[in-house]
Amino acid sequence: MTTALPSSRETASLIVQDVCSGKRTAVEVLETYLDQITSHEGEVNAFTLVTEQQAKADARSIDKAIANGDTVGPLAGVPVAVKDNLCTKGVATTACSKILEGWEPPYDATVVTKLKEAGAIIIGKTNCDEFAMGSSTENSAFGPTRNPHDLDLVPGGSSGGSAAAVAAGFAPLAIGSDTGGSIRQPASLCGVVGSKPTYGGVSRYGLLAFASSLDQIGPFASTVSDAALLHEVIGGYDPKDSTSIKEQNTSHSALIGHDLKGLKVGVIKELLGEIEGIHPDVINSCNRAAESLENSGADVEHVSLPSAIYSLSAYYLIAPAEASSNLSRYDGVRYGLRIDGSNLKEMNINTRTEGFGDEVKRRIMLGTYALSSGYYDAYYGKALKVRRLLAENLEELYQEYDVLLSPTSPCTAFPLGEKTQDPMTMYVNDICTIPANLAGHPAISVPFGIGTDALPIGVQIMAPPMKEQVMYQVAASLELAADV
Ligand code: GLN
Repeated sequence: MTTALPSSRETASLIVQDVCSGKRTAVEVLETYLDQITSHEGEVNAFTLVTEQQAKADARSIDKAIANGDTVGPLAGVPVAVKDNLCTKGVATTACSKILEGWEPPYDATVVTKLKEAGAIIIGKTNCDEFAMGSSTENSAFGPTRNPHDLDLVPGGSSGGSAAAVAAGFAPLAIGSDTGGSIRQPASLCGVVGSKPTYGGVSRYGLLAFASSLDQIGPFASTVSDAALLHEVIGGYDPKDSTSIKEQNTSHSALIGHDLKGLKVGVIKELLGEIEGIHPDVINSCNRAAESLENSGADVEHVSLPSAIYSLSAYYLIAPAEASSNLSRYDGVRYGLRIDGSNLKEMNINTRTEGFGDEVKRRIMLGTYALSSGYYDAYYGKALKVRRLLAENLEELYQEYDVLLSPTSPCTAFPLGEKTQDPMTMYVNDICTIPANLAGHPAISVPFGIGTDALPIGVQIMAPPMKEQVMYQVAASLELAADV
């Protein structure tokens, strides 16, 4: 087993403290991460692009501002890796698809603008499944990313490059997107923290859309506090995103460190072994996490979320349906790749045939089928009903419980190539993460224990909409109790 793990990982908070107090310069900090990238990126393939020159220039500006006594932002000098489905002005953005080869956006995503304003240093764009469709980062035009814990294994997906970048010490923080689990599942498989904010909590402006009613951008970090800090920086109302929430409390870290007395935690029994396919090691970690919360003063009970079982099927109709519409814009006219033909239609067909990978084509076909007039009610309509039912079930549970606990992923990291030939086996990886997306609720994955295979396991805390404070509070308590 070959690994690409660093000897240690440091927090963003420490970097900010050091850079602001003059202990280290932002340039020195950046050099450390660039060195680690030079040593191990060849094996891991976490990046589609390392923006070294721009990052150095940005780090120099931060150092200059500090030397001048100017006020700097809350992420001053912290390198951040950004998933390649987020627009970066003048810097190639491809969503890891051949169809966007050579495309440079004329604007920054709101999240990217906010990172820059906060003093963060964008160190590069990270690898992902094409258009964020996948659970292993094997569906990328740039080749797969490898798990830094064991280079023969997948890092999870779709934001596998971002998770691997944090795990390998290429960046202390990273940004991902989560439509059905794409932040939390790779976080779990790579042994880092990853959270999906409430739908509407973080602007989607400049995110290359996959399924717009589910997509959310969120943080990866080594610690819960760092994830909350990054979430605070990227979150908040944005008039450029029509689904952005106007009134929101963005002090997500406020309750970290507070004790759990009086909190009620529900453990979702369907995701704890009642449905097939959850590995015993994962169940064991989740049970131990429940015990740990109880020891910290929370009131823990088993609860039932029957609709969780149907969520997977509903998601794999709703997400492809939305994708089939969102991806119609890649027609060879407006962006990236164009393969000519004798007329417009032929050019569209040639471009899309050549530009999209197999999984993306599969989703477009599934989605088009689910939306077609003869099948709309039976598939898409039915899926929407399941979505509503799930939201109602969760709402009921949250009348009694503050947060819900479950595994994040049914298994630990699996070998590259193991599930690529069987899409259904790949889709089942998302069983625990999808409910939070369908409901639009926040959820976080935090490392808790390791399996008999010596690989990291993550547990998931779900919370009601806009209740990130309690989500991070409970996650931080688990982090403290975790024995890894
Ligand atoms: N694995 C899921 C899918 O393939 C989720 C992807 C995501 O969250 N972007 O659709």
